[in-house]
Order: sequence, then C-alpha cells, then structure tokens
Amino acid sequence: MQDLPKVAVVGRPNVGKSTLFNRFVGRRVAIVEEMPKVTRDRKEVEVKWSGRSFTLVDTGGWLSSGTSLDDKVSKQSEEAIRSADLVLFVVDATVGVTEEDLRVRDMLHKVGVKDVIVVVNKVDSDRQDPLIWEFASLGFGDIFGVSALHGRLSGDLLDAVIDRIDAPLEDDEEVSEYGSSQDDAKIVHVALVGRPNVGKSTLFNRLVGAERSVVHDMAGTTTDTVDTVVERDGMTYRFVDTAGLRRKSKSSDGTEYFSMVRTLQAIDTSDIALLVVDATEGVTSQDQRLAERIDLSGSPAIVLLNKWDSLSEEERLSLESEVKSKLSFLSYMEPLRISALSGHNLHRVWKFIDEANSVYTKRVPTRELNKLLVSLQVNHPPKKTKILYGVQGATDPPTFTLFSTKDIDTGYLRYVENRIREHFGLGVTPIKIRVRRRS
Ligand code: GDP
Ligand code: GDP
Repeated sequence: MQDLPKVAVVGRPNVGKSTLFNRFVGRRVAIVEEMPKVTRDRKEVEVKWSGRSFTLVDTGGWLSSGTSLDDKVSKQSEEAIRSADLVLFVVDATVGVTEEDLRVRDMLHKVGVKDVIVVVNKVDSDRQDPLIWEFASLGFGDIFGVSALHGRLSGDLLDAVIDRIDAPLEDDEEVSEYGSSQDDAKIVHVALVGRPNVGKSTLFNRLVGAERSVVHDMAGTTTDTVDTVVERDGMTYRFVDTAGLRRKSKSSDGTEYFSMVRTLQAIDTSDIALLVVDATEGVTSQDQRLAERIDLSGSPAIVLLNKWDSLSEEERLSLESEVKSKLSFLSYMEPLRISALSGHNLHRVWKFIDEANSVYTKRVPTRELNKLLVSLQVNHPPKKTKILYGVQGATDPPTFTLFSTKDIDTGYLRYVENRIREHFGLGVTPIKIRVRRRS
C-alpha cells in the first residue's frame, strides 16, 4: 500500500467530499480496509478500478478555525495534500465559487501540489452541465462535473484519475479476490418499497415471519427507523425500514404517512430492491418514479405484482402488457406475480434475492471477458471501430470498461451488453458499460 500513488480529496465542508469518497470506495471496502492509523480528519483507503490501485486520502475539514487542535489537524491534512500525486479539489455546482473555495485554492498553491482536478459535484443531470464552467475561474486546468450522490459520471472521473497517476496494474487473481472473499461475510441490504396499501407490510411479515431464522432489530440509517435483520441459511439480510413497513403510522383520516424521502434513501443504500405494485390498480406514475429511481441506483430490482389473487383472467393479461410498456427499463427481470395474503410465489422472492445478490457482486475473469469480446466481434463486427480489450472495473453492479478505437454506437453496445449478460449468467442484475477511446 505504501507504494501506491496517492489521491487526496480536498474541499470546504458540505461540497460532498464524504459522499464522493464513499462512492469511490464502496460501503464494503470502506469498512474492511480502513487503516488503523486513521485520525479524526484523515482516512486512507485503497481503491481499485479497472484493475489498477491507488490510495485515496480523505482530508476532512482542513479549514483551520483557529483553535490549536484544528491547527494540528490541518497541518496533518496539508502534509497529506503535499505528498499526494493528484488532488481532487471538490466544489459544489449548485452554490458556485465561494470565499471558502478561494481559500482552499490558495492553500493548494501555498502547500504546492503536483496535479489537480477540479471536481464539480452535485451536477445531478445533463441540464446542470453548464454550471461547471464557472469553476474555470479557479485557475486549474481540468474540470470534471459529477454527481457523487447518484454516481453520475463518477466512473469517468475514476478513469481520468487512473489515466493521470500511473497506477500499477494488479494481476487478475488479486483483483478477483477483492470481489469475492469479503462478500461472504457481507450483509445484503434489501429495500422493500412501494406506494401505501400495495401490501408491503403484509409481504414483509410473511417473508420475515415465515422464516425459522434469527430475526432482530437494529437502529436504522435515520434516527427514528428500525431495520430488521434476518439470518437465513448462513446469509444475513437487512431489510431497510421505510416507515410503514413495520409500524403503521396512519393519520386520523386513515391515509398512511408515506415518506418518499425515506423510501428513496432506502433504495440508494440497498443492494437489492423489491418494488411492490398493487396489481388491482395497475402501474401508477408513482410506481414508475420509484422504478426509475431504482434503475438509477444500479441495484438489481424485481417488480412484485401483488394481490394477483384478486385479478380476473382478463385483468391479468392487460396488466402484463401494461408492465411491459410502463416499466420497460427494468426489463432485464420478469416481474413476479405474488399474493402476500395467500403466500402464492413467496418462496421465489427469497430465491430472487439470493440470485440477484450473487450476480450483483460477481466478477468475471479478464481473460474470459476478452475471449468473448474477440468472438462476438468476429461474428458481428462493429462499424468503423474495434473493441481492443475490456476490463471489469467494479462490482455492485458489474461495471465494464471497453477500450475501442472509435465511439461505439448504442445499438452495438446493447448487443455487447446482452452477450456479456448471457455468457456470464448475469441475468438479474443491471450492468454498466463504459467506453474509452484508445488509438
Ligand atoms: P462533505 O462535508 O464535503 O464531506 O460533504 P458530504 O459528503 O457530507 O455532503 C454534503 C451534503 O451534500 C449531503 O447532504 C449530501 O447528501 C449532499 N450531496 C453530496 N453529493 C451530492 C450530489 O452529487 N448531488 C446532490 N444533489 N447532493 C449531494
Ligand atoms: P402497505 O401499506 O403497503 O404496507 O400495505 P398492507 O400490507 O397494509 O396491505 C394493504 C391492504 O392490502 C390490506 O388490506 C391487505 O390485507 C391487502 N393485501 C395485501 N396483500 C394482499 C394480497 O396479496 N391480496 C389481496 N387480495 N389483498 C392483499
């Protein structure tokens, strides 16, 4: 670890440094590989991307507010910044350049840094892209807009980091070990989400209650929530509380309090999402919004068409085509027709969770991937370009980077995606493919 290139994350408070740090590192690795010499303001972890490694340093709140402890802390951060091969100077697109940003800039000049990328964070959509140009005034060459929270373009940023720092290439064995060994002990976070009255709590009680398993409660991610942890066949599952799952909070008019914020948080922190839809009401726009958010989170998802028992044959047929048209972006997975009330098909929900978890964290061998890339191009060559090679840069979800001579059109990318999915049995997980040009 000593010899790895160092990348320091720097910026004033609230710009999203920790979010970016966690995005790069991933929840699991952050816990497992945190180094013992961690101090209040300085965390170092090893990050692997596209088979290459570097040390990521979180410099925390370096801004000195005058007290002696703060001075000491900031000396230490300055040392981390000085010794870094690359500094990611994080700023907030939604706020623009602030006084504090200018102080960070001055500090970087004073300390003397080797190389800087300005990371303009909170660029959550294309529409916000123009916001990044204001930060050109900071005077550093490279500017990169990302959304740490949603992961937008964070993979491209990692590619740029790798390109800049000359990170050593790991051999295949070691890379694949990182993907699998720690997963055994891992807790699978499950989000069970849906509109009020679709049958979430009935389903939850059925799923959890029917298990002859250890079930216990755990403080949730937000203060007033309680997650339920289930141990089953040697695996540990954590059902993220979304309010209304366990305790009913009905207001006086009988309508349930539906916390969208909490539901969205549960989706973002989950490994697997179960979207419950009330089959008797069809796919509503709220269902679609939830599905979109799940799709964005990159977690494997399954649509559970609940209350299947109360549908007529005719209603069943029309619902199937409605699901196809309105939830098409989750189409890598067939919806499951269930009845939480009668228990119909519920064993398949557990089966889905287990399958999804194993492919979500799967890592395919680089050699196999490249064999496939060669053979699929022989059978069906792309137009005016050639895929030179590919690597799986990350898991959760499986993320592939293809290196090609020219851009690859989306039709061909879809073909490649489908072949990768088929060949490696990645059926129920979303996968991500990014293209980098190499001449
Ligand atoms: P730090 O103080 O720089 O470490 O900032 P945090 O990582 O704690 O983030 C500060 C706030 O900004 C939190 O509420 C985050 O959820 C939010 N945030 C971080 N990244 C993004 C982003 O990409 N988009 C949006 N909209 N909010 C973000
Ligand atoms: P939640 O608000 O999403 O947690 O929904 P509940 O679990 O409280 O269920 C709402 C209503 O739907 C209750 O009256 C349940 O009895 C009913 N319900 C739940 N699952 C089913 C099902 O599979 N079939 C039928 N017919 N009703 C169901």
